[in-house]
Amino acid sequence: MKSKLSNQFLRSFLVIFLLTILDTVLAFVLLSYASSLISDSLAKNQYPASAIIKEDYSQIDASSVIERGGGVQVVDREYRVVFSGGIDTIGKNELTAQEFTRFLTESRSKPYHYDIIYQPEGEFWLIVTFPTSLRLDFSLVHNKEAATGDFIRSGLVLTFVVLVFVLILALFTYIYSKITAAGITVPLKKLRDGTRLLREGDYSARVDLRLKNEFAELQDTFNDMAARIEQEISLRKKSEEDRRRLILDISHDLKNPMSSIQGYVELIMNKEDMTAQKRNEYLEIILSNSIRANKLLTELFELSQMDSPEFSLKLERTDICEYIRQICAELVPVLESQGFEYQFDISEESVFVMLDADRFGRIIQNLANNAVRYNPTGTLISVRLTVQNNQVIIDFRDNGIGIPSHLKENIFNPFVRVDDSRNSKSGGSGLGLSIAKKIALAHAGDLTLCHGENAGSTFRITVPAI
Ligand code: ADP
Repeated sequence: MKSKLSNQFLRSFLVIFLLTILDTVLAFVLLSYASSLISDSLAKNQYPASAIIKEDYSQIDASSVIERGGGVQVVDREYRVVFSGGIDTIGKNELTAQEFTRFLTESRSKPYHYDIIYQPEGEFWLIVTFPTSLRLDFSLVHNKEAATGDFIRSGLVLTFVVLVFVLILALFTYIYSKITAAGITVPLKKLRDGTRLLREGDYSARVDLRLKNEFAELQDTFNDMAARIEQEISLRKKSEEDRRRLILDISHDLKNPMSSIQGYVELIMNKEDMTAQKRNEYLEIILSNSIRANKLLTELFELSQMDSPEFSLKLERTDICEYIRQICAELVPVLESQGFEYQFDISEESVFVMLDADRFGRIIQNLANNAVRYNPTGTLISVRLTVQNNQVIIDFRDNGIGIPSHLKENIFNPFVRVDDSRNSKSGGSGLGLSIAKKIALAHAGDLTLCHGENAGSTFRITVPAI
């Protein structure tokens, strides 16, 4: 990619290089044409020495030259300046032969235009001077009469100068094309390398171009995209891991009751001399195991139902205070019969929320079952309902054994249990809190665990008031 772009730039700049040479030649042609166009209108050409010269220098009228900012000097054959008007670049009244010769030979290099003619009759030189406004001393002159050696030497020098000019221009063109191409190929290469890393599975790949142009925008978009992919992949990995763990947990939890049922059924079938009492004992074990397996499957079904896209709640406008009061009243006989203390603090005012009464009841039911199941007799269970910032907050609290703080978040994941031995005794599936959380989320609310170890457990249900 780099070489292709680089060559493309080189080709483009080569065209510019040729155009520059063409333009330079054109500029010289134009310059000489323009110069010939305006030459007639220039003061130096309007007032040449030949126009004002007379046989007798005292009759020369220099006024028009002086008016136009020029100067007129007359030098006689003794090299004395016998007349001077306007600007004077000789600067002396009397010259030596050498000084006058130097003046004549050096006149071209001065910023003045001199027109000098010699009047043989009057034996004097007339010098008309005009200051040069702008002058480019360049002309290509070829004289066939010049010595052959000179022509070759001059031709070689000229060719050398032209070659150096062309070479320098070509070198600059090459360097500039490389620099310009690098401005594009370097960031492109970095972006390409980043994309390759991403393709090869390195989702932590990021690009840092240290630029502030359009490439920087591309870099930001690339980095943003890479960050999103990285996040997606890690989420996917996590959900894949969760799914794998869930299947493992399900099969593990179903295996025990199912193999127990199978074992006892085989025992009853094979032992013909079994007493009725023993058979009943085995049948009870079979029944309790099938109840356990059935409960697990029912709860799993409920959980997966809530994950399916077809799942929807039957929401109705409900006074949540009245609703919770009713549920608490239903809990009282259970709590009393099990020897639990209780305390309810529910506002007398009506607060309305959108509720699927059956499903929402499952949250309280699960929390109450857990509180009774996992805590010792005499534990205080309290329910408190408040409204804050248009949110109904129901705190379901017990001052029992509590849940370790490291399980604060995970406790809502399926099959997470604090203590498996404690749990197997109570027959919990580890799905109750997951189901309760999903129901709360489906109501645009939440279920969180506020207090952990040693302070009992406080589960907080929130649901938006309307
Ligand atoms: P399970 O069906 O096992 O009760 P849950 O999801 O309802 O499943 O509860 C997960 C675990 O959290 C329980 O196994 C239990 O160890 C613990 N737990 C839940 N509620 C309480 C509580 N009020 N006090 C102490 N531990 C609790």
